[in-house]
Amino acid sequence: METGISYFGNRMPKHIAKDLVDIKKHNCTYVLHTCSEIDQAYYPGTMKEIVKISHDSGLKVQMNSWAVGGVFGGEAYSLFVMQNSDEVQELSNGKKLPAACLNSKKFRVFLKQFIGNCVSYGIDTFFWDEPHFYLPWHFGDAPGDYGCFCPNCKKLYREQYGKAMPKKQDRTVDEFREKCVASLLNEINPVLKRGRVEGAICVLPKLIEGENSGTGDWDRVASLKGIDLFTTDPYWTMHLKRPGFNVEEFVRRNTVNALAAAKKYRK
Ligand SMILES: [Zn+2]
Repeated sequence: METGISYFGNRMPKHIAKDLVDIKKHNCTYVLHTCSEIDQAYYPGTMKEIVKISHDSGLKVQMNSWAVGGVFGGEAYSLFVMQNSDEVQELSNGKKLPAACLNSKKFRVFLKQFIGNCVSYGIDTFFWDEPHFYLPWHFGDAPGDYGCFCPNCKKLYREQYGKAMPKKQDRTVDEFREKCVASLLNEINPVLKRGRVEGAICVLPKLIEGENSGTGDWDRVASLKGIDLFTTDPYWTMHLKRPGFNVEEFVRRNTVNALAAAKKYRK
């Protein structure tokens, strides 16, 4: 069994080195270092050094794209979104969103470069951290609206389904968004393979079965060629005040389903 922990919020190697000793002492085999847009803009040399001292401590290294473009998990802001307001997602009610469109060519070029940089730091595994389309409930938008409803996505939808994209999310929209996420992963995963880096993915857990923000079909994600590790992260604290929420049911269901998808595709 491999055990690991995520590490973030500190970019001072001499302090990190001490923490890594502690992490190793607690029987971890790997550490996940978050990498944000700010890290790559201002501390690329430090990120490389962090990977090296982690290896020197006897730990394998995973790295993610920490909230990059506002489409992955993480508590960081996106410079790409601030600088590219024409490439962001739109809600079906017309509101522009603080998240890059997953179908934006410019964003995909940026992300490919970003992940290529992570690979160049010498990591063992790249961690696709909760790739998703905008979550309206998470940011206080009406639950009936969804994204991305930008002109580019509407055009792609029409090309694939021969009709206009509906204003309300339905099963076809779910499928379209799943295909968009899969196409993004398929486009970038070769960067990992060329660098001999493993591809891990963590899909968002489902509060209820059928919930879908682009990775709802776990079979579709787990079956992707470039994905070596499949997982989910049923954090429960933010849901505790939801009426009828049952922690044990939530964690158990998502864990059992993740394990089933991983086993099915030998991930
Ligand atoms: Zn879009």
